[in-house]
Amino acid sequence: GRLLSGITPDPRIVELDQRQPEFVSPVWDYVTNRVTANRIDGGRNLKAAINPTLEAVQARYGVPSGIILGVWGLESNYGEAALNYSAAAALATLAHEGRRRAQFEGYLLALAEMVERGLADPAQLRSSWAGALGQPQFMPDVYLTTAVDFDNDGRRDIWNNRGDVAASIAHYLSDRGWRANEPVFEEARLPSGFDYALADGTLRTVADWAERGVAPIGGGAWPEAHLGLQAQLFLPAGAQGPALLLHHNFGVIRRYNNSDRYALVVALLARAFDGREGLVQSWPRQLGSLTREQILELQTLLNGLGYQAGEPDGLFGSRTRTAVRGFQTSQNLAADGF
Ligand code: CA
Repeated sequence: GRLLSGITPDPRIVELDQRQPEFVSPVWDYVTNRVTANRIDGGRNLKAAINPTLEAVQARYGVPSGIILGVWGLESNYGEAALNYSAAAALATLAHEGRRRAQFEGYLLALAEMVERGLADPAQLRSSWAGALGQPQFMPDVYLTTAVDFDNDGRRDIWNNRGDVAASIAHYLSDRGWRANEPVFEEARLPSGFDYALADGTLRTVADWAERGVAPIGGGAWPEAHLGLQAQLFLPAGAQGPALLLHHNFGVIRRYNNSDRYALVVALLARAFDGREGLVQSWPRQLGSLTREQILELQTLLNGLGYQAGEPDGLFGSRTRTAVRGFQTSQNLAADGF
């Protein structure tokens, strides 16, 4: 009752929830706008400030501190991003709006449980407009199962306590299957005449990829310890851009935010914190990107030609990619689905 007293629907939140972007930015803009000197410096400074805590978190959960910091930097700019909404008001507004009523009623009940159990201070429950809590941006159900009281003060304070924040992010990733001492991705060089249709999400061992001529970008051979790992080949910008072997942990980062480009940025930030290089191959920026309307038209045309792009929705998903591959193959083009 106290949690909801005086709350009225917030029209700003409804407007934000109903906004649809006209186009999705190209992957190279997404990466460049997030792997910035500022964000790299911010991560390094935070690491220097709380290194013993990060080391202890890494030792407990097996997740490297660079990955924790990468997620932290993207979710809340290391806690510097303003949380402009009351979580109760944001969740209640989205439940009231009705598009995802049951889901947000569930979040609201979880929020009440957080307070009832004394895990969080009710005065502290700030969120994004979508109801994501604190510096790791957890929804309330995730908070209940996953947030950690790392300093043992009785509160899982993901708003102000950096140890609680770092441990909560690491716990989330370890809980979803993070494998210590395995890479996230490795950049690859493809042989000439390579069949780009192999970059269709199929898992093969690194040894198998090596037999097909897929080599480390820096030359030489793949590390012995990686040869038995399962990886998929990923061309985020098609045949003219970088080629990446994605390992299991790449998919684990996607569990935090279901986006390939998000996972790629987290991994690139982690490398940058350690002073390691970013991608060697350049992005094919000259290719530009499609608007939602253009993607809709593409899907309609592909369906008309008998390629199954699915119900046209203006979003370039895996079915559209498969349909584009089919068309490219029929035209003797590089079947990269891009
Ligand atoms: Ca605590």
